[in-house]
Amino acid sequence: MSDTIFAKIIRREIPADIVYEDDLALGFRDVNPQAPVHILVIPKKPIPMLSEADDADQALLGHLLLTVKKIAQQENLAKGYRVVLNTGEDGGQTVFHLHLHLLGDRPLAWPPG
Ligand code: AMP
Repeated sequence: MSDTIFAKIIRREIPADIVYEDDLALGFRDVNPQAPVHILVIPKKPIPMLSEADDADQALLGHLLLTVKKIAQQENLAKGYRVVLNTGEDGGQTVFHLHLHLLGDRPLAWPPG
C-alpha cells in the first residue's frame, strides 16, 4: 500500500520535476496540470490519506501547509491560489500517498466538481 508512484519519486526511482525538498516534504509538478501552476506537496512519510493520519502527524500536516505557502511565494502566486487535498474514493483520490495540490496562476471556479 505504501509503495506508490510518489514513494518512487521520493526515492528518485522515477523522474519528477522537483521544485522543493526538505527533510520532511517534497514538492514536484503534477504530470497532468490543471492550472498553469500545479504542484503536489507530499510528506516523505507514507501516510496513505488524510483519514489515516493521526495525532502524531499534527506537526507534519502543519509543515505541509506552510510548505505550500513557501512554494506559492516561490511561484509568484501573489494573486492567490487553491490548495486541494483529495481523500478516498469519493474525494477523487487516485494516488494513495497523502498529497496537497497547489493550483494557481489562473482564476479558479467554485464550487469544484
Ligand atoms: P489525486 O487524484 O488527488 O490522488 O491526485 C494524484 C495526482 O498525481 C494527479 O493530479 C496526477 O496527475 C498526479 N500524478 C500521477 N503520477 C504522477 C507522476 N509520476 N508525477 C507527477 N504527478 C503525478
